[in-house]
Amino acid sequence: ATPLALIRGGGMAAERGILMRSGEAFQILKDITHVVLDKTGTLTEGKPRLVAAEAVGDFGRDEVLRLAAGTESASEHPLASAIVDGAVEQGLEIPQARDFQATAGQGVEATVAGRRVLVGTTRFLRASGVDVAPAEEMLDRHEAQAHTAVLVAVDGVVAGVLAIADAVKPDARDAIAELKGRGITPVMLTGDNERTARAVAGQVGIEEVHAQIVPQDKAARVRALQEQGAQVAMVGDGINDAPALMQAHVGIAIGAGTDIAIESSDVVLIGERLGAVPEAITIGGMSYRKTVQNLW
Ligand code: ADP
Ligand code: MG
Repeated sequence: ATPLALIRGGGMAAERGILMRSGEAFQILKDITHVVLDKTGTLTEGKPRLVAAEAVGDFGRDEVLRLAAGTESASEHPLASAIVDGAVEQGLEIPQARDFQATAGQGVEATVAGRRVLVGTTRFLRASGVDVAPAEEMLDRHEAQAHTAVLVAVDGVVAGVLAIADAVKPDARDAIAELKGRGITPVMLTGDNERTARAVAGQVGIEEVHAQIVPQDKAARVRALQEQGAQVAMVGDGINDAPALMQAHVGIAIGAGTDIAIESSDVVLIGERLGAVPEAITIGGMSYRKTVQNLW
């Protein structure tokens, strides 16, 4: 039978939008040593906006944005919507994409207005033989401001940089401080580049950052921590996070969360509040103490 204190803890949690999918989740929460957090949509609001478009070389800024938006119109990535919406807001007409191809965690490419266009990471463009050097200074500048910057190449030549901003959640810094105050180590996991990831981590107070992690490797990072003896809670919202949520001792799905993230989790946080993470841990600890008193 479920001990009474666990039921009581469950009621307290529910009032705060914390749903425990199992009684065990409560008890494991009190022993957590590390909380691993996905960046986009977990630490940040997950509402990326295009904040800058810059051209390099012979290309015009509007042309770069128009071609990139045409390419991205075939993608469902949140960055793609930010780029397409940004172009529409600038009054640009978005050309159609043909022969579209996406590489997870890297970028997209398509033929747009008769040109072959690539949009994505440095690594992605380099892999196609594009010399990214002319855009490096621009890229560095945006990444240092915690923006996700993607490169655009047209017919094999680097043509510009697009900067996308995603604000950190208003309570992220406090929630992280709360965890650290209890001796819990917060860890950030993201597919984004090292510099952007470090800039965001700095804003919320996280020191341990694993950047440029392709979706398939997120669970392996959690396992590596566990092999070092860590008791890990993983907090995430996306399809990409599902294997890591399952791998962790406690999986915590946050926000609107995709169904698959919720299905893979032990705890579901209703709403966007990151403060619910330390609260869930507190309630877990309290319930456990009461359980022990009741049983003994
Ligand atoms: P995250 O873990 O932040 O959700 P992803 O693993 O989906 O990120 O993507 C990692 C990186 O790959 C992005 O930061 C971006 O640089 C690049 N990328 C992925 N998809 C796209 C796209 N549709 N357009 C441009 N860049 C992309
Ligand atoms: Mg996410």
